[in-house]
Amino acid sequence: MSGKLYLCATPIGNLGDVSSRCLEVFGFVDLIAAEDTRRTLQLLNHFEVSKPLTSYHEHNKHEKGGYIISLLKNGKNVALVSDAGTPAISDPGEDLVKLCIENDIEVTSIPGPVAGINALILSGLPTRRFAFEGFLSVNKRHRREHLESVKNDTHTLIFYEAPHKLRNTIDDMQKTFGGERRIALVRELTKLHEEVKRCTLSEAAQFYKDNSPRGEYVIVVEGAAEAVEPEKNEWEDIPLREHIDKYIAEGMTSKEAIKQAAADRNLPKREVYNEYHRGDN
Ligand code: SAM
Repeated sequence: MSGKLYLCATPIGNLGDVSSRCLEVFGFVDLIAAEDTRRTLQLLNHFEVSKPLTSYHEHNKHEKGGYIISLLKNGKNVALVSDAGTPAISDPGEDLVKLCIENDIEVTSIPGPVAGINALILSGLPTRRFAFEGFLSVNKRHRREHLESVKNDTHTLIFYEAPHKLRNTIDDMQKTFGGERRIALVRELTKLHEEVKRCTLSEAAQFYKDNSPRGEYVIVVEGAAEAVEPEKNEWEDIPLREHIDKYIAEGMTSKEAIKQAAADRNLPKREVYNEYHRGDN
């Protein structure tokens, strides 16, 4: 019988956020596959867990993926942890999950911290509908294309970004979305210097001209304004004569009815009068 892959969320800063279920899983699995083994070792040492570790990251995911699948097929249980937070969110965990599904291997998740969701709930921007955009490409053209593709999206947008690229990203966002869009720059979540800067894109661009970005960031951007449907005039679908006759039937004189119909339709009285009496002579 095959083993199981456990997707274990780990802290994004504060070690107190590790769940008791996560530690329990670390205790019984045969192997922990970690995106960054040094970082995971610190976590394991802190909680006095001793377990074999193997690396699984973007640059070895093809060979390591096959190796992990062979262990799982041989009945071993494996925990997958990312650099920080929830595996398979902006890391190669996604590929391992796919491989397991293709190989009929059971996958389960041990929930916990995820930077994007925590940034969203702190942003003060609408949380009812949102889109996770992850990292923008390092390629300038692809970055611009990505931003262009979400320019008119009305969902709140969530981006991950490294501090050394933050200034360029804010500039590109300002060029694409306009300076008035509201954003929240959420940094160092759960850590000592946790901070949320809520402002417009142009204010952020100005701020980071004078201040160097430091720490890990999530950028939460307000969605595009909903296109406002022009208010439909309820009389538009009714022929003018019928409209005026309705008022006359209700007791208005024809003069009063024409005046009221002109007001309803936002038309000059004279125009309505002429139209109503067209063909009278
Ligand atoms: N899998 C992780 C998760 O669940 O959020 C994200 C991994 S992704 C490779 C790393 C990015 O997450 C960072 O570049 C940063 O944008 C964001 N991030 C991680 N920890 C953070 C923190 N403590 N505060 C703010 N952003 C953080």
